[in-house]
Amino acid sequence: MNWLTEFVLPKIRAAVTRREVPDNLWTKCPACGQMLFHRELEKNFEVCHACGHHMRIGADRRMRVLFDEGEFTPIELPKPPTDPLRFRDRKRYADRLKEPGGRPDAIQVAHGRIGGHAAVAAVFEFGFMGGSMGMAVGEAIVAAARLAVLQKAALIVVPASGGARMQEGLLSLMQMPRTTIAVDEVKEAGLPYIVILTDPTTGGVTASFAMLGDVTIAEPGAVIGFAGARVIEETIREKLPDGFQRAEYLLEHGMVDMVVRRHELRETLARVISLLTEPVVKSAA
Ligand SMILES: [Zn+2]
Repeated sequence: MNWLTEFVLPKIRAAVTRREVPDNLWTKCPACGQMLFHRELEKNFEVCHACGHHMRIGADRRMRVLFDEGEFTPIELPKPPTDPLRFRDRKRYADRLKEPGGRPDAIQVAHGRIGGHAAVAAVFEFGFMGGSMGMAVGEAIVAAARLAVLQKAALIVVPASGGARMQEGLLSLMQMPRTTIAVDEVKEAGLPYIVILTDPTTGGVTASFAMLGDVTIAEPGAVIGFAGARVIEETIREKLPDGFQRAEYLLEHGMVDMVVRRHELRETLARVISLLTEPVVKSAA
């Protein structure tokens, strides 16, 4: 350490390396191409002002959108064995799991209030391996369902998932019956189970708990399906109709009960929960 390394070098470095300018101040809408200022976008629930396109949002942001005053208490989730099959594709699965920014897995569970009603929410994190469902996600949904029963709360599940997680093979497929039984426990306890389908909800997630809600809500434009449209087209050798597998198409065909803008999601949930839990209307007589 001397005058050179402590004083001169940092100055030279500062002069040479450009100061980092945040390059994420603007986001381009993937639907209409409009450039959107990040603060405006955040204020508008990550929905494009120009065309109404609903961007994908992370689990944390989603929780803030759902719960009253954006307040919620996350719960610690069970930690099932990681990489039981010692799976390796281009990378080792164990290494892949460590990648996405310290998040434990593709789901978060929290409890709080929605319109004053007790609620437990299990929200997928699409950014973590495409929101794929392995043992950790299955365990989290079981934990969320049991917590809802314990707290006599509504269970809200918000999938954003490419389906089952290949790297766990059969063990990930087993989460389909497990999550189905878990949400059944909520129904047997007479508590509301509401699903909010977001973009995208596909594969084994669609084929299990995601289609079992007492009420199924979807976000505008969300892709919801089992197999991808291209795979279906190639199999049946037919052109699929416009808007196939989109929330609005599924609403028309009775697979979805409501398509709700993100701005109205919380009040819609509050209304649905109150209809399902306080169904008795006092008559004037
Ligand atoms: Zn747009």
